[in-house]
Amino acid sequence: MDESVRDYLDRYGVSDATRQFLAKPRKMFIDGAWVDSGDGATFDIFEPSTGGRITSAPSGTIEDLDRAVRAARRQFDGGDWRRLKPLARERLLHRLADLLETHGDELAEIESIDMGKSVTFAREIDIQGTVDTFRYFAGWPSKLHGRTVEPSIPGNYLAYTRKEPLGVVAAIVPWNFPLQTMAWKLAAALAAGCTVIVKPAELTSLSTLRFAELAQEAGIPDGVVNVVTGRGSIIGAAMSTHPGINKVTFTGSTPVGQEVGRSAVGSLKHVTLELGGKSPVLVLDDADLPRAALAVANGVFFNSGQVCDAGTRVYVQRSVHDAFLDELVKVTRTLKIAPGLDRDCYIGPLVSAQQKTVVSAYVEAGRRDGAELIHGGGSPAGPGHFVEPAIFAHCRPEMSIVREEIFGPVLVTSPFDTLDDAVSLANDTPFGLAAAIYSNDLARVHTLIPRLHAGSVYVNAHSTIDPSMPFGGFKDSGFGKDLGPEQLDHLMETKAVWITLP
Ligand code: NAP
Ligand code: MG
Repeated sequence: MDESVRDYLDRYGVSDATRQFLAKPRKMFIDGAWVDSGDGATFDIFEPSTGGRITSAPSGTIEDLDRAVRAARRQFDGGDWRRLKPLARERLLHRLADLLETHGDELAEIESIDMGKSVTFAREIDIQGTVDTFRYFAGWPSKLHGRTVEPSIPGNYLAYTRKEPLGVVAAIVPWNFPLQTMAWKLAAALAAGCTVIVKPAELTSLSTLRFAELAQEAGIPDGVVNVVTGRGSIIGAAMSTHPGINKVTFTGSTPVGQEVGRSAVGSLKHVTLELGGKSPVLVLDDADLPRAALAVANGVFFNSGQVCDAGTRVYVQRSVHDAFLDELVKVTRTLKIAPGLDRDCYIGPLVSAQQKTVVSAYVEAGRRDGAELIHGGGSPAGPGHFVEPAIFAHCRPEMSIVREEIFGPVLVTSPFDTLDDAVSLANDTPFGLAAAIYSNDLARVHTLIPRLHAGSVYVNAHSTIDPSMPFGGFKDSGFGKDLGPEQLDHLMETKAVWITLP
């Protein structure tokens, strides 16, 4: 561990449990064993508020993935997991949720230190969301069932359907909500009776490795949950073509998702793709402006803008445009820029130096293209990958800052006149992950909702997420759903059974 990181952990009084976890080079988790990669290769893991090195993790090989697939197959094709009664599976998943909750503070520290996010939000959102997701899906195994049917064809039949788990599921996870996104993929898969192999993002593998220790402690049988760390272009790509894997569930960028989808379909795997976004926000002239400004700022700048459904394009009805932007800038000024472990941090560093370069280049492009930068966009002096939240006004639809996903704290805005204009602007994007409306006019709100091409529509709020509600995009934001009962349909086969009766 670099000196800068050790000082950072000291300064914020990080717990002994977290220190011990971070002090050792990590191993990955295959078939219940903690192992190095087959060829001994590792990669370094960095802390974004200081830029210092924390530790390392194994850079997995194709052979490592093969071993994980064999273990997951063994458990699925005839092992303990497949034979476990539904209520026993529920008990194990609840036990895991309890352990995640007990270790919540430690997991939040690990997430903050590895990813750079606010430790306070990590505890309240990421870790609580992880616990809630496991608890929600823990209740499902005993409630999964098919139907009995009365056929009309001649003859006498007992006809019914069975819901059966798909098999071995590979989960490819991004770095912005590492543990929570992993939970979105694993909890439902395990509840359905599948076995899993996770590949966390190299930038943020630590919380998933700590999670695997807790899964082991909860008594999840060996081989049911495996974690293979390493490069997306090696492990992720091999998951998409591996003949022993039945489904790939991917969250990440649209270009990589397209590649994963093509490979997965090439080997006829099921696939769920949760991809990028550029979500529109409509502020109507009757909106409560101070409340809307607060919610809009949260909706775009939370997690330093590294949120797939962030409300990054704001369209404001012309009569309230200037007043709304004033409120928005006022709120944005109050967001504290600080290291992730600072309990009052709102804007933490971006995840990596590379991400900072990308985001800063977009701010520059916005300026060059003639958008009016009315707040922020610079980088504070000192260590860490910080970028101040940026607000652009009077943006035009063809600008790259309007068209492309930036994945940082950059908001583009422009005025609109009629609701038809607002709908055209909102839908003028290849993405379709989410959209938001700020208004208390029920008639207008209800007219707008069906016209917005987005998987989630938030009204007077943004990114309200709960395990009981499905989440997933339209258009280039992918297909399939995470969360809600809808997700379970993507993890089970339906078998039609016909029995001829005398
Ligand atoms: P990314 O580059 O697409 O990476 C996502 C995951 O895919 C990582 O684990 C990555 O591993 C792996 N990967 C990289 N190349 C691969 C390949 N050729 N085959 C298979 N897997 C590969 O995305 P990111 O930069 O980590 O995350 C940001 C993106 O995720 C944004 O576009 C965001 O909108 C999207 N996102 C979407 C949702 C949603 O629910 N819709 C939620 C969160 C984020 P390595 O990084 O270790 O190489
Ligand atoms: Mg890191």
